[in-house]
Amino acid sequence: MLMKIKLFPNKNNDSLFIADILKDELKNNGFSLVESDYDLVIAIGGDGSFLHMVNSNDFNTNIRYIGINNGTLGFLQEIKPTELSSFIQNLKDESYKEELISFENIKIVTKDEAYYFKCLNETVIRDMNLSTAYLDVFINGTFLEKFVGDGLMVSTPSGSTAYNMSCNGAIIFNGIHTLQVTPIAPINNNIYRTISNPIVLPEDRIIKLVPTNRTTDIMLLVDGVNHLIKNVNYIEIRVSDTKLKCIRMNDYDYTNIINDKFLN
Ligand code: NAP
Ligand code: MN
Repeated sequence: MLMKIKLFPNKNNDSLFIADILKDELKNNGFSLVESDYDLVIAIGGDGSFLHMVNSNDFNTNIRYIGINNGTLGFLQEIKPTELSSFIQNLKDESYKEELISFENIKIVTKDEAYYFKCLNETVIRDMNLSTAYLDVFINGTFLEKFVGDGLMVSTPSGSTAYNMSCNGAIIFNGIHTLQVTPIAPINNNIYRTISNPIVLPEDRIIKLVPTNRTTDIMLLVDGVNHLIKNVNYIEIRVSDTKLKCIRMNDYDYTNIINDKFLN
Protein backbone atom coordinates (compact mmCIF):
# COMPACT_ATOMS: atom_id res chain seq x y z
CA MET A 1 0.00 0.00 0.00
CA LEU A 2 1.12 3.55 -0.74
CA MET A 3 1.24 5.02 2.77
CA LYS A 4 4.17 7.44 2.75
CA ILE A 5 3.51 10.52 0.68
CA LYS A 6 5.31 13.71 -0.27
CA LEU A 7 3.52 16.71 -1.81
CA PHE A 8 5.07 18.93 -4.47
CA PRO A 9 2.92 22.08 -4.66
CA ASN A 10 4.06 24.97 -6.84
CA LYS A 11 4.45 28.43 -5.25
CA ASN A 12 0.95 29.53 -6.20
CA ASN A 13 -1.19 30.42 -3.14
CA ASP A 14 -4.08 28.24 -4.30
CA SER A 15 -1.74 25.26 -4.67
CA LEU A 16 -0.38 25.80 -1.17
CA PHE A 17 -3.97 26.02 0.11
CA ILE A 18 -4.88 22.74 -1.63
CA ALA A 19 -1.71 21.17 -0.19
CA ASP A 20 -2.76 22.16 3.35
CA ILE A 21 -6.21 20.65 2.93
CA LEU A 22 -4.80 17.51 1.34
CA LYS A 23 -2.23 17.07 4.12
CA ASP A 24 -4.91 17.16 6.81
CA GLU A 25 -7.21 14.81 4.90
CA LEU A 26 -4.41 12.33 4.22
CA LYS A 27 -3.36 12.31 7.88
CA ASN A 28 -6.99 11.84 9.00
CA ASN A 29 -7.11 8.80 6.73
CA GLY A 30 -3.98 7.17 8.16
CA PHE A 31 -1.40 8.24 5.58
CA SER A 32 1.89 9.80 6.65
CA LEU A 33 3.49 12.86 5.05
CA VAL A 34 7.24 12.39 4.91
CA GLU A 35 10.27 14.15 3.40
CA SER A 36 12.21 11.02 2.40
CA ASP A 37 11.58 7.31 1.75
CA TYR A 38 8.14 8.11 0.32
CA ASP A 39 6.31 5.77 -2.04
CA LEU A 40 3.93 8.29 -3.61
CA VAL A 41 4.53 11.87 -4.74
CA ILE A 42 1.75 14.30 -5.63
CA ALA A 43 2.33 17.43 -7.74
CA ILE A 44 -0.08 20.31 -7.12
CA GLY A 45 -0.22 22.92 -9.90
CA GLY A 46 -0.02 22.62 -13.68
CA ASP A 47 2.06 20.49 -16.05
CA GLY A 48 5.17 22.47 -15.11
CA SER A 49 4.70 21.24 -11.53
CA PHE A 50 4.48 17.63 -12.67
CA LEU A 51 7.68 18.03 -14.74
CA HIS A 52 9.41 19.69 -11.81
CA MET A 53 8.33 16.93 -9.40
CA VAL A 54 9.64 14.17 -11.67
CA ASN A 55 12.89 16.06 -12.19
CA SER A 56 13.46 16.73 -8.49
CA ASN A 57 13.08 12.99 -7.87
CA ASP A 58 15.69 12.37 -10.60
CA PHE A 59 13.16 10.25 -12.56
CA ASN A 60 13.02 7.69 -9.72
CA THR A 61 11.26 4.61 -11.11
CA ASN A 62 10.55 3.03 -7.71
CA ILE A 63 8.01 5.57 -6.46
CA ARG A 64 4.51 6.40 -7.82
CA TYR A 65 3.55 9.73 -9.39
CA ILE A 66 0.25 11.61 -9.68
CA GLY A 67 -0.84 15.25 -9.98
CA ILE A 68 -3.64 17.52 -8.84
CA ASN A 69 -4.45 20.20 -11.36
CA ASN A 70 -4.75 23.80 -10.29
CA GLY A 71 -5.67 26.53 -12.71
CA THR A 72 -3.55 25.97 -15.82
CA LEU A 73 -3.84 23.32 -18.56
CA GLY A 74 -2.65 20.40 -16.45
CA PHE A 75 -2.70 17.73 -19.14
CA LEU A 76 -0.49 15.53 -16.93
CA GLN A 77 -2.44 16.42 -13.77
CA GLU A 78 -5.27 13.94 -13.48
CA ILE A 79 -7.05 14.89 -10.25
CA LYS A 80 -9.26 17.98 -9.95
CA PRO A 81 -9.26 19.89 -6.63
CA THR A 82 -12.97 19.05 -6.28
CA GLU A 83 -12.14 15.31 -6.35
CA LEU A 84 -9.83 15.21 -3.32
CA SER A 85 -12.03 13.05 -1.09
CA SER A 86 -12.75 10.39 -3.74
CA PHE A 87 -9.03 10.43 -4.62
CA ILE A 88 -8.07 9.72 -0.99
CA GLN A 89 -10.74 7.03 -0.70
CA ASN A 90 -9.41 5.33 -3.85
CA LEU A 91 -5.86 5.46 -2.49
CA LYS A 92 -7.09 3.88 0.74
CA ASP A 93 -9.02 1.15 -1.09
CA GLU A 94 -6.10 0.63 -3.50
CA SER A 95 -8.68 1.21 -6.17
CA TYR A 96 -6.58 2.58 -9.03
CA LYS A 97 -4.50 1.55 -12.05
CA GLU A 98 -0.83 1.99 -12.68
CA GLU A 99 0.54 3.21 -16.00
CA LEU A 100 4.18 2.97 -17.09
CA ILE A 101 5.50 6.16 -18.68
CA SER A 102 8.63 6.47 -20.83
CA PHE A 103 11.18 9.18 -20.45
CA GLU A 104 14.26 10.07 -22.51
CA ASN A 105 17.94 9.60 -21.85
CA ILE A 106 20.06 12.21 -23.56
CA LYS A 107 23.83 12.16 -23.94
CA ILE A 108 25.82 15.05 -25.39
CA VAL A 109 29.45 14.52 -26.22
CA THR A 110 31.60 17.60 -26.74
CA LYS A 111 35.25 18.01 -27.59
CA ASP A 112 36.16 17.70 -23.90
CA GLU A 113 33.25 16.22 -21.99
CA ALA A 114 30.01 14.24 -21.92
CA TYR A 115 26.79 15.57 -20.42
CA TYR A 116 23.71 13.53 -19.48
CA PHE A 117 20.09 14.64 -19.18
CA LYS A 118 16.67 13.04 -18.71
CA CYS A 119 13.36 14.45 -19.80
CA LEU A 120 9.67 13.62 -19.62
CA ASN A 121 8.29 15.83 -22.42
CA GLU A 122 10.89 16.60 -25.05
CA THR A 123 14.37 17.60 -26.06
CA VAL A 124 14.82 20.37 -28.61
CA ILE A 125 18.15 20.76 -30.39
CA ARG A 126 18.90 24.13 -31.97
CA ASP A 127 21.91 26.17 -32.93
CA MET A 128 23.10 28.12 -29.89
CA ASN A 129 22.60 31.43 -31.74
CA LEU A 130 19.19 30.36 -33.06
CA SER A 131 20.60 30.49 -36.58
CA THR A 132 20.02 27.63 -39.04
CA ALA A 133 20.84 24.26 -37.51
CA TYR A 134 22.69 21.69 -39.65
CA LEU A 135 22.36 18.23 -38.17
CA ASP A 136 23.15 14.83 -39.66
CA VAL A 137 20.57 12.37 -38.37
CA PHE A 138 21.36 8.69 -37.75
CA ILE A 139 19.01 5.96 -36.49
CA ASN A 140 20.90 3.09 -34.85
CA GLY A 141 23.98 4.17 -36.77
CA THR A 142 22.27 4.30 -40.17
CA PHE A 143 22.29 7.67 -41.92
CA LEU A 144 18.77 9.10 -42.34
CA GLU A 145 19.16 12.69 -43.52
CA LYS A 146 20.95 16.01 -43.40
CA PHE A 147 18.54 18.14 -41.41
CA VAL A 148 18.52 21.85 -42.16
CA GLY A 149 16.14 24.18 -40.34
CA ASP A 150 15.41 25.75 -36.96
CA GLY A 151 15.94 22.52 -35.08
CA LEU A 152 14.79 19.03 -34.23
CA MET A 153 12.52 17.97 -31.41
CA VAL A 154 12.50 14.50 -29.90
CA SER A 155 9.41 13.97 -27.78
CA THR A 156 8.00 11.18 -25.62
CA PRO A 157 4.34 10.10 -25.73
CA SER A 158 3.76 12.26 -22.60
CA GLY A 159 5.34 15.23 -24.36
CA SER A 160 3.48 14.61 -27.61
CA THR A 161 0.64 16.87 -26.46
CA ALA A 162 2.98 19.73 -25.52
CA TYR A 163 5.52 21.57 -27.72
CA ASN A 164 5.36 18.68 -30.22
CA MET A 165 1.70 19.42 -30.92
CA SER A 166 2.50 23.05 -31.71
CA CYS A 167 4.93 21.75 -34.37
CA ASN A 168 2.28 19.52 -35.96
CA GLY A 169 3.58 16.34 -34.38
CA ALA A 170 1.21 13.44 -33.75
CA ILE A 171 -0.50 12.86 -30.42
CA ILE A 172 0.83 9.51 -29.15
CA PHE A 173 -1.27 7.62 -26.64
CA ASN A 174 0.35 6.86 -23.31
CA GLY A 175 1.24 3.19 -23.08
CA ILE A 176 2.99 3.23 -26.44
CA HIS A 177 6.72 3.44 -25.75
CA THR A 178 8.34 5.37 -28.55
CA LEU A 179 10.12 8.57 -29.53
CA GLN A 180 8.87 11.04 -32.10
CA VAL A 181 11.29 13.17 -34.11
CA THR A 182 9.58 16.38 -35.17
CA PRO A 183 11.27 18.98 -37.39
CA ILE A 184 11.01 22.66 -36.50
CA ALA A 185 10.83 24.82 -39.62
CA PRO A 186 12.67 22.38 -41.94
CA ILE A 187 14.14 24.00 -45.08
CA ASN A 188 13.29 22.55 -48.49
CA ASN A 189 14.57 24.09 -51.72
CA ASN A 190 16.93 23.38 -54.63
CA ILE A 191 19.85 23.16 -52.23
CA TYR A 192 18.45 21.48 -49.11
CA ARG A 193 16.20 18.42 -48.78
CA THR A 194 14.81 17.85 -45.32
CA ILE A 195 12.09 15.48 -44.17
CA SER A 196 9.27 17.73 -43.04
CA ASN A 197 7.04 15.11 -41.41
CA PRO A 198 7.39 13.78 -37.86
CA ILE A 199 8.89 10.29 -37.58
CA VAL A 200 7.77 7.82 -34.89
CA LEU A 201 10.41 5.27 -33.89
CA PRO A 202 10.36 1.85 -32.23
CA GLU A 203 11.49 2.07 -28.62
CA ASP A 204 14.82 0.30 -29.15
CA ARG A 205 16.17 2.87 -31.64
CA ILE A 206 18.90 5.35 -30.78
CA ILE A 207 18.74 8.73 -32.45
CA LYS A 208 22.12 10.32 -33.10
CA LEU A 209 22.49 13.91 -34.21
CA VAL A 210 25.82 15.16 -35.49
CA PRO A 211 26.24 18.92 -35.96
CA THR A 212 27.77 19.76 -39.34
CA ASN A 213 28.55 22.78 -41.48
CA ARG A 214 28.35 26.01 -39.38
CA THR A 215 26.65 24.27 -36.44
CA THR A 216 29.04 23.56 -33.57
CA ASP A 217 27.45 25.10 -30.48
CA ILE A 218 24.05 23.83 -29.40
CA MET A 219 21.07 25.15 -27.51
CA LEU A 220 19.47 22.16 -25.83
CA LEU A 221 15.99 22.59 -24.38
CA VAL A 222 15.19 19.81 -21.94
CA ASP A 223 11.55 19.94 -20.82
CA GLY A 224 11.70 23.66 -21.53
CA VAL A 225 14.93 24.25 -19.61
CA ASN A 226 17.74 25.81 -21.60
CA HIS A 227 21.33 24.48 -21.74
CA LEU A 228 24.01 26.08 -23.93
CA ILE A 229 26.69 23.60 -24.92
CA LYS A 230 29.77 24.40 -27.01
CA ASN A 231 31.81 22.29 -29.43
CA VAL A 232 29.30 19.45 -29.67
CA ASN A 233 30.51 16.29 -31.41
CA TYR A 234 27.22 14.43 -31.23
CA ILE A 235 23.96 13.97 -29.31
CA GLU A 236 22.33 10.61 -28.60
CA ILE A 237 18.73 10.21 -27.49
CA ARG A 238 16.97 7.00 -26.52
CA VAL A 239 13.89 5.78 -24.63
CA SER A 240 14.57 4.97 -20.99
CA ASP A 241 14.88 1.25 -20.21
CA THR A 242 13.00 1.77 -16.96
CA LYS A 243 9.63 3.52 -16.80
CA LEU A 244 7.98 5.96 -14.44
CA LYS A 245 4.98 4.56 -12.55
CA CYS A 246 1.93 6.82 -12.69
CA ILE A 247 -1.17 6.21 -10.61
CA ARG A 248 -4.42 6.52 -12.59
CA MET A 249 -7.94 6.46 -11.26
CA ASN A 250 -10.02 3.56 -12.63
CA ASP A 251 -12.04 5.88 -14.90
CA TYR A 252 -8.88 7.41 -16.46
CA ASP A 253 -9.36 7.50 -20.23
CA TYR A 254 -6.78 9.19 -22.48
CA THR A 255 -9.36 9.82 -25.23
CA ASN A 256 -11.48 11.71 -22.75
CA ILE A 257 -8.51 13.81 -21.59
CA ILE A 258 -7.65 14.85 -25.15
CA ASN A 259 -11.25 15.91 -25.68
CA ASP A 260 -11.45 17.70 -22.35
CA LYS A 261 -8.11 19.59 -22.58
CA PHE A 262 -8.14 20.56 -26.25
CA LEU A 263 -11.75 20.87 -27.31
CA ASN A 264 -13.80 21.96 -24.30
P1 NAP B 1 4.81 26.55 -19.83
O1 NAP B 1 5.30 27.71 -20.62
O2 NAP B 1 3.83 26.78 -18.74
O3 NAP B 1 4.23 25.44 -20.82
C1 NAP B 1 3.57 25.79 -22.02
C2 NAP B 1 2.26 25.04 -22.10
O4 NAP B 1 2.50 23.65 -22.30
C3 NAP B 1 1.43 25.14 -20.81
O5 NAP B 1 0.07 25.33 -21.17
C4 NAP B 1 1.64 23.79 -20.16
O6 NAP B 1 0.59 23.40 -19.27
C5 NAP B 1 1.66 22.92 -21.41
N1 NAP B 1 2.23 21.57 -21.22
C6 NAP B 1 3.38 21.20 -20.60
N2 NAP B 1 3.55 19.88 -20.66
C7 NAP B 1 2.48 19.38 -21.33
C8 NAP B 1 2.08 18.06 -21.73
N3 NAP B 1 2.84 16.99 -21.46
N4 NAP B 1 0.93 17.93 -22.43
C9 NAP B 1 0.16 19.00 -22.75
N5 NAP B 1 0.49 20.26 -22.40
C10 NAP B 1 1.64 20.45 -21.70
O7 NAP B 1 6.12 25.81 -19.25
P2 NAP B 1 6.17 24.57 -18.28
O8 NAP B 1 4.87 24.46 -17.53
O9 NAP B 1 7.46 24.65 -17.53
O10 NAP B 1 6.23 23.34 -19.32
C11 NAP B 1 7.39 23.11 -20.09
C12 NAP B 1 6.91 22.62 -21.41
O11 NAP B 1 6.33 23.69 -22.14
C13 NAP B 1 7.98 22.12 -22.35
O12 NAP B 1 8.37 20.79 -22.04
C14 NAP B 1 7.29 22.24 -23.70
O13 NAP B 1 6.62 21.04 -24.04
C15 NAP B 1 6.24 23.30 -23.50
N6 NAP B 1 6.50 24.41 -24.43
C16 NAP B 1 5.65 24.56 -25.48
C17 NAP B 1 5.91 25.52 -26.45
C18 NAP B 1 4.99 25.62 -27.62
O14 NAP B 1 4.00 24.88 -27.67
N7 NAP B 1 5.27 26.49 -28.57
C19 NAP B 1 7.02 26.37 -26.33
C20 NAP B 1 7.86 26.19 -25.24
C21 NAP B 1 7.60 25.20 -24.29
P3 NAP B 1 0.48 24.14 -17.81
O15 NAP B 1 -0.07 25.48 -18.13
O16 NAP B 1 -0.48 23.29 -17.03
O17 NAP B 1 1.87 24.18 -17.22
MN1 MN C 1 3.37 25.81 -16.95
